[in-house]
Amino acid sequence: MNRAVFLDRDGILNVDRGYTWRLADLVVPGGVPESLSLLKKLGLKLVVVTNQSGVARGKFAMSDVAAFNAALESEVVRRGGPRFDMIMTCPHHPDGSVAPYNVSCECRKPGVKLLRDAAATLDIDCSRSFMIGDKWSDVLCGFRADARPILVQEAASLSYDLPEGVRITRPVAGGEGSRSGGIATSVETGDVEIYSSLSDAVSRVAGLES
Ligand SMILES: [Mg+2]
Ligand SMILES: [Zn+2]
Repeated sequence: MNRAVFLDRDGILNVDRGYTWRLADLVVPGGVPESLSLLKKLGLKLVVVTNQSGVARGKFAMSDVAAFNAALESEVVRRGGPRFDMIMTCPHHPDGSVAPYNVSCECRKPGVKLLRDAAATLDIDCSRSFMIGDKWSDVLCGFRADARPILVQEAASLSYDLPEGVRITRPVAGGEGSRSGGIATSVETGDVEIYSSLSDAVSRVAGLES
């Protein structure tokens, strides 16, 4: 079976502008293409899993999401990075106004359907895979899919949406493979590693692999 890194899109692969869909808003931070190349070199499949409720809310169309995803991949490749193995999008939200997307679904993270579907298609063993995201919903999704979650957040701000009962026990300094790694502990779920950039998170993954 294959192994994968499931990657959140906005805030991980490109700068999150809120609802990010205009091609003019596509900014891929330094280090992202290189990090993806390293993951690929480690033999991991690259699967993007992204919530795009703006479709259900009528802010943009699925075709806009597809165009943005294609532009993102092109930019990564232009800068020497690899292609993605799959890009999975959830366009739903129950508060939306646009049918057929204005529904509760099983694919919106922390739902695991995007990961499960990708895993079935690419023969991925989730229990030996990673989920990297910048929100708690990404972390929960990782836990629920039995993948190892890694949170990427600016350690200085620690502004992510922690649910009740979750606390950061070692938010700064000394995380292995990271300048500012730490561990968040959830009573319900377990330990979550936190890094301040995708590059740091990927260094950690590479360390675990070697
Ligand atoms: Mg995100
Ligand atoms: Zn969905």
